[in-house]
Amino acid sequence: MAAIEMKNIVKQYGDGFPAVNDVSIDVGDGELMILVGPSGCGKSTLLRMIVGLEDITSGEMVIGGDVVNDKAPRDRNLAMVFQNYALYPHLTVYENIAFPLRLAKTHSEQEIDTKVREASATLELDEHLERKPGNLSGGQRQRVAMGRAIVRDAKAFLFDEPLSNLDAKLRGQMRTEIARMQRRLGVTTVYVTHDQTEAMTLGDRVAVMKKGNLEQLATPRELYEQPVNLFVAGFIGSPPMNFLPANIKGNQVELPFLSLDLAPEVAEKVQGKGLLIAGIRPEYFEDAALVDDAKRAKGKVFSATVDVSEWLGNEQYAYIPFEAPPEVREQLEQLERDLDGETLRTQLVVSLDAASRVRDGEEAELFIEPSRMHLFDPATGENLTLRR
Ligand code: ATP
Repeated sequence: MAAIEMKNIVKQYGDGFPAVNDVSIDVGDGELMILVGPSGCGKSTLLRMIVGLEDITSGEMVIGGDVVNDKAPRDRNLAMVFQNYALYPHLTVYENIAFPLRLAKTHSEQEIDTKVREASATLELDEHLERKPGNLSGGQRQRVAMGRAIVRDAKAFLFDEPLSNLDAKLRGQMRTEIARMQRRLGVTTVYVTHDQTEAMTLGDRVAVMKKGNLEQLATPRELYEQPVNLFVAGFIGSPPMNFLPANIKGNQVELPFLSLDLAPEVAEKVQGKGLLIAGIRPEYFEDAALVDDAKRAKGKVFSATVDVSEWLGNEQYAYIPFEAPPEVREQLEQLERDLDGETLRTQLVVSLDAASRVRDGEEAELFIEPSRMHLFDPATGENLTLRR
């Protein structure tokens, strides 16, 4: 296995704007790195430059300590792991796994047999070696595809949206399968997806990209709790973070439904900034009736009229419309476009405990702690409340 270092990588197709713009990412030996972002952000281009299917305009690609910019794909010894469509339907599982070794003509029959059996033991495929791919479950096929990569002793595994054609249930199963096998094998892996849930659940670290730029590279937890800007904040999390106009008045911030006191270190950073954008995740709101006194003392109770609520069994969502003034509307509309969103979210979405008694058309008493709020600069999108 090997570490992959991308140093100031630029990719320009023709004369156009850079599809990848000065991106540096270090993937540690054995690490699972996710490249995530909306369509067109450059994640596939970056993956193709790692494999060698695309030339690098400038910057250095280093794999296992060697600069590979000018190396052909076959000399990089990386394995693209594809879904079932890349398995040969007429060959058994055994022959599918053995295929790359037979092709390379570098191993004796005995060596091939040893390698295939080692791989199948690791991947729990022993019972299926004589079956054809058509008779396997999706998860088993995925393991066969990984088996083919293992026998080659590839330096790293690369996945490009491997689950995008599957239905939601199978996608969940396969995600778990890939995570389990990747950890067991300890193989350096780069995984491209546009799906933030996949990114958050699979990755050791996640590189969030937008329009060719690397916006933030961090652990899933850090992305969730400490997004560096509006884009990352809006991209990570489901349902997405709420963005509200936030008027800074001294040591307070006025939001559409309530005012909150700012912590002194936050007040200092945003003093005199006027109108900002507040970001609060739906799950940070609580039904005030379910909050004990000790906790109430740390936050604020406010009321708002619920337009519609949805009860999901384990939680419930309540939707509360508000007006966004023109000063922040433009930035929020741009954000919606960047996030591939369809409509401007001028409603607060709160995710409450399933036991909560909110009702459509009625006032709800809600609770929020000021420390749960991020404040973003509307001009630059920068998160002004990051703890550094
Ligand atoms: P998707 O998820 O839709 O595949 P992506 O994030 O993987 O998107 P890329 O496919 O890497 O994005 O494309 C990044 C940018 O480069 C896009 O603007 C795309 O139109 C452009 N691009 C990709 N391939 C080429 C090409 N061969 N020639 C010219 N432009 C290209």
